[in-house]
Amino acid sequence: MSFKFSISLSVIFLLLAQSAVAQIIVVKANNMLDVRSGKIVSPAVILVKDGVIESVNPSSLPSGAQIIDLGNQTLLPGLIDMHTHITGDYFTGDEWTTAAVRQTAPDWALQGVRFAREILENGFTTVRDVGAQPGFPDVALMRAIEAGHMPGPDIWPAGHAISITGGHCDWTGFAPGVMELGPEAGIADGVDEAMKAVRYQAKHGVRVIKICATGGVFSFSQNAEIGAQQYTLEELEAIVHEAHKLGLKVAAHAHGTDGINAAIRAGVDSIEHGSILSDESIDLMKERGTFLVPQAYLNEFELAPDTPPATVAKNEYLKPLVTRSFKLAYEAGVNMAFGSDNGVFPHRDTPLEFEALIRMGISEIDALRMATIHATKLLGVDDRGELSAGKRADIIAIPGNPLNDISEMRSVSFVMKQGVIYKQL
Ligand SMILES: [Zn+2]
Repeated sequence: MSFKFSISLSVIFLLLAQSAVAQIIVVKANNMLDVRSGKIVSPAVILVKDGVIESVNPSSLPSGAQIIDLGNQTLLPGLIDMHTHITGDYFTGDEWTTAAVRQTAPDWALQGVRFAREILENGFTTVRDVGAQPGFPDVALMRAIEAGHMPGPDIWPAGHAISITGGHCDWTGFAPGVMELGPEAGIADGVDEAMKAVRYQAKHGVRVIKICATGGVFSFSQNAEIGAQQYTLEELEAIVHEAHKLGLKVAAHAHGTDGINAAIRAGVDSIEHGSILSDESIDLMKERGTFLVPQAYLNEFELAPDTPPATVAKNEYLKPLVTRSFKLAYEAGVNMAFGSDNGVFPHRDTPLEFEALIRMGISEIDALRMATIHATKLLGVDDRGELSAGKRADIIAIPGNPLNDISEMRSVSFVMKQGVIYKQL
């Protein structure tokens, strides 16, 4: 299932737009969603100055302000996706199985230029990138976007995902001697190497640490069985301790129960996937405040026809377990944040995650909170995620009311990031 992404390229390039940052902009629309209260506020007049929301529905407007009147639309805060692979293409046949030995970090960074634009034009103004290919293409993209060389969301990159030798985030399936990597590239065994891996990612500019705590769908090694625990508790604790000491949160890829529970006990900030949660996992997450970052659309998505049969089999095995775990976590009130895992499917289809979340049984407002105020909590920032005074001017618009029809999220018509307009249809 996919939808046609039919916008004209309407990125307003930064040269033009940066001059607008210094001036006062008024964004008007008939409606605005207050994600905290879950209410639609009408009308909506947002005063933006120097990239920050100065006030909402002020009693008077300053003279000389640039007015952007979006008419009968609904304003929302810029969206946040906590699980992207902005430099990754795992959806074009089986190309990805050998990309690691054919391509370079610049190849990945450059294909990420397109994906970053698609993500931003879908209304995602902030993303966490949880594991890129070797050579920090994700950090390079973050810097290029920050420097104004290209449009894209704010990126929290993880650099190399940290994995045991032969584990899910090792590049396996090749002959001995090919892609045999060390702690710098995220392949680390034992406490000392695990600490080195964290420190090396931090040295090179990552803003989050990603670890692979269990096997996964898109890997081939013997010991990457889907649910199997990979790191020991001692190794996990060393990673978390070191990352937190450096001010970095830890996101743990984890499908199977033992690996999930060990990662939570070690103090990770989020469980990515969380496919096979037990009652104990739920209790531990509630007790520690650990976030679940589930992937609802991926659970419905048909992998590309050329995908290796072993990968398809693992994916199908997980689907009913994912649905069950999601419901358990939601009903128990576990913290949850939005994380599409785009890169496994085309980045431009990311808004479909909202519809899939609703089909999993959650409310429209909770799905939108996962991608706004809940995501900021997991990121550890309070400067964005809602339309209120003092927050960054990350503002998007959609034609209708997302609380009545979440598929409106497919039709983002306006994107402002930090006061700069990147899309206006
Ligand atoms: Zn992923």
